[in-house]
Amino acid sequence: MFDKIVIANRGEIALRILRACRELGVKVVAVHSEADRDLKHVRLADESVCIGPAASADSYLNIPAIISAAEVTDAEAIHPGYGFLSENADFSEKVKQSGFVFIGPNAETIRMMGDKISAKNAMLAAGIPCVPGNNDPLSDDDKKNLKLAQEIGYPVIIKAAGGGGGRGMRTVHTESALINAITMTKAEAGSAFGNPTVYMEKFLEDPRHIEFQVMADSHGNAIHLGERDCSMQRRHQKVVEEAPAPGISAEQRKTIGERCAKACIDIGYLGAGTFEFLYEKGEFYFIEMNTRIQVEHPVTEMVTGFDIVKEQLRIAAGEPLSLTQDQVKITGHAIECRLNAEDPRTFMPCPGKIDQFHMPGGPGIRCETHIYNGYKVPPYYDSMIGKLIAHGENRKSAIARMNTALSEIIIDGIKTNIPLQQIIMNDNAFAIGGQNIHYLEKKLGIY
Ligand code: ADP
Repeated sequence: MFDKIVIANRGEIALRILRACRELGVKVVAVHSEADRDLKHVRLADESVCIGPAASADSYLNIPAIISAAEVTDAEAIHPGYGFLSENADFSEKVKQSGFVFIGPNAETIRMMGDKISAKNAMLAAGIPCVPGNNDPLSDDDKKNLKLAQEIGYPVIIKAAGGGGGRGMRTVHTESALINAITMTKAEAGSAFGNPTVYMEKFLEDPRHIEFQVMADSHGNAIHLGERDCSMQRRHQKVVEEAPAPGISAEQRKTIGERCAKACIDIGYLGAGTFEFLYEKGEFYFIEMNTRIQVEHPVTEMVTGFDIVKEQLRIAAGEPLSLTQDQVKITGHAIECRLNAEDPRTFMPCPGKIDQFHMPGGPGIRCETHIYNGYKVPPYYDSMIGKLIAHGENRKSAIARMNTALSEIIIDGIKTNIPLQQIIMNDNAFAIGGQNIHYLEKKLGIY
């Protein structure tokens, strides 16, 4: 195991990684921006290094500054968390070239999965079901593109190969709108992602978002840890996540999960990863792979009793997976509510000072947050300030526990989305489970 690592992230995930390090006896270097000196994990870390001003581009995205921090503190490895540089192949490569271990897959894998066309082709080759489409860059040949859309059948979606964060996509319902949509998506993709390549696939109208957690080691082993349902979304951003996904049978879990694990072996995957699928009419369609730890990993941890972050560290240190597929058991149900510093009605971010914070408790409750009494939520970063996770013997008891926890938690001084989470937890359709990705926006009257 490593002696010391750098956590190249902030907020709740940096604290989560620090806790995993503590359990494994690994020392922690926290790197932080000038605006983040008071972060909880910075105070708890063995060492800390300021890597630049508040703006992410100058600090958490500043590759030379992060690598220098690893050099001056004599650390061995770098954990990128999620967001920021976590899926940046150049970062992974530079970390390695500088003599450190990147806690995640190698640069080639990140690069392959970062391009949605090459990712889709790799998955098709590995036997993973994908959304029907052309799976090649679209040419400038209008006639050919019109024919292609006709073959796929409207509605279709034009997607940027280099897109991310729910951007760089356009749905096309009629033939007359196709050519213009391709031109516009190409232009947008070129300016937003520096890559104008787009492709076409069938637009699924009523899907759920279901994703599989995988872990692969450097000894040729891979397992899946079951699935999560993340269909409660607003503007393609997840709001509530749960495991297991309502209505998914043990047989479906086994079939798709094992295919994902096998795909990991086929592509030489290393570490924790997520296969994201759209699920419609009983069929799974791969949309993308995330090559990092995800915000919603705790729901999987709660139902499997398995520590994904500790395993990431072990795998990066060269150890074999500590579980075989047969040892993975799903027990009960877990739900996660993301806690955001934002207005629950307008969704405007609401940074500021937290006058009072009271953490909820009780059986099955887990609160992942870096906030504390007097902490000032800075305006420069994502508005997520924590996550509340409830585990119960079944979905009903997990919802009941979440409701109790949401009524106990106190975050005074700033606005949060807790009222919205309470509405969702008391919603009749949510109680039934299995709603599609448009449900929340329809309910909020903005779709
Ligand atoms: P990103 O990398 O930007 O997150 P994804 O490919 O994961 O892009 O897609 C993000 C979201 O866009 C999906 O969760 C879904 O809501 C929608 N989407 C993407 N592809 C399709 C499709 N073929 N049909 C319907 N919706 C889609």
